[in-house]
Amino acid sequence: MSDLIWFDPTLCLTGGNWQPATERQTLPLTNPSDNSALCQIARGGAADIDQAVAAAGEARDGDWGKLTAAERGRILLRLAELVRDRAEDLARLEAMDVGKPLTQARADAMALARYCEFYGGAADKVHGDTIPYLDGYTVYTLREPHGVTGHIVPWNYPMQIIGRSIGAALAMGNATVLKPAEEACLTTIAFAHLAQEAGLPAGALNVVPGLGAEAGAALAGHGDIDHISFTGSVATGALVQQAAGENVVPVTLELGGKSPQLVFDDADLEAALPFLVNAGIQNAGQTCSAASRILVQRGVYDVVRDRMAAAYEDLSVGPALIDPRVGPLISARQKEIVSRYLELGSDLTVVAQGTVLPDAPEAGHYVRPTLFADVPVGHRLAREEIFGPIQVIIPFDTEDEALTIANSTDYGLVAGLWTRDGARQMRLAKRLRSGQVFINNYGAGGGVELPFGGVGKSGHGREKGFEALYGFSQLKTVAAFHG
Ligand code: NAD
Repeated sequence: MSDLIWFDPTLCLTGGNWQPATERQTLPLTNPSDNSALCQIARGGAADIDQAVAAAGEARDGDWGKLTAAERGRILLRLAELVRDRAEDLARLEAMDVGKPLTQARADAMALARYCEFYGGAADKVHGDTIPYLDGYTVYTLREPHGVTGHIVPWNYPMQIIGRSIGAALAMGNATVLKPAEEACLTTIAFAHLAQEAGLPAGALNVVPGLGAEAGAALAGHGDIDHISFTGSVATGALVQQAAGENVVPVTLELGGKSPQLVFDDADLEAALPFLVNAGIQNAGQTCSAASRILVQRGVYDVVRDRMAAAYEDLSVGPALIDPRVGPLISARQKEIVSRYLELGSDLTVVAQGTVLPDAPEAGHYVRPTLFADVPVGHRLAREEIFGPIQVIIPFDTEDEALTIANSTDYGLVAGLWTRDGARQMRLAKRLRSGQVFINNYGAGGGVELPFGGVGKSGHGREKGFEALYGFSQLKTVAAFHG
């Protein structure tokens, strides 16, 4: 086993104790860069989820629940420092486990530290209101934790997603049960060790690795959780919502996207071009907010297509730890899905492809980044989330046409807008069906301060920023009559 794995990965964390899954079963983790075996992880099931939820309930009613907001904040700030101190180890672990190029994995580790810092600082700054009311009354609101929160996270951005979800939930005083993805969960387990080192009381964070259909389904349908947040596919999100609905448990869903960037004739192309490509190939396109559709006005269509094509020809694909522009896909299954989309595009114009480095291991899950042009709006490659390094370019003539195309998928996560026309910026920012609109940038550097979430099939609820603190708490109204 790699010496990057400085903890026992085969255990679940329940009530402050690291222990094997009840049935002592394990699952293999592999390195996507060469398909080699990394280690075994626990295969938790319903009994482990039961124990974790019970432990979280005890923490809520015990030491953890009794801490002041300022004390919770201090623990998160200590955790931020520990994450920052171990950022390089965490980044290498993530690169090995997810296949994420090292530079991107380093950015994720720093984002995890920053989430802990942001939510640590915010913990004692969320408060209720006093409400002017009838004579003789004093009315105020209290922001209270939900209680026990469930968190089901995917494999593509483990550190970012646990940072925003666990960070905000703990800041508000919830006790958490976390089910990481079976494909990649080493940084999640490492994070839980660091949280203990930071002094997080037993049971405030419980971690049960395992399969979605076993541990995940048991958590989503558990009768004793008070809130669940899920990031992943639309199909699984719908199942999670259904299961939570049986218990009338509120749900935050962060699902996929088919996000567009709109490039108008008056755009600053030098500024736009790096964003157009990066936002499509980052993490090998396995990003919910990937800009997989590039809509370009006719006047600059040829130049944008040709400049993007040149950038694609420079893309090298290889093992994550040598830090290429594009790493492998997470699994053989994901490679099969992406390859099927490439076949579906055989009737389209391929304008450029990246190159898999000659010494990239045969067994790694590599695909060539591929840029398609002149793609009809109704084509499956222009409508469906692919989760691979594939982008389509679609021409348009007018602003109205661009808007119609942009809003034509089931999703609505992110939209990027490149134009110097201020009035158009304002108009489109309102009319784009999307949880986020970025004007003359894409992603704004991913700031932890910025609320994030989708509309339509991209999900509902908001994570990140202060908004997440409201999502991970509930409001109680107190009306006192004193005459
Ligand atoms: P998934 O939705 O199946 O898995 C995400 C998480 O949900 C994992 O932790 C998994 O174990 C868990 N899960 C699976 N089945 C469950 C169930 N029945 N009940 C509760 N939890 C369950 O995603 P995937 O299979 O890893 O990927 C499939 C597709 O999902 C991808 O191709 C991509 O399109 C999309 N995806 C989107 C995101 C995102 O960030 N929006 C992330 C990962 C995957």
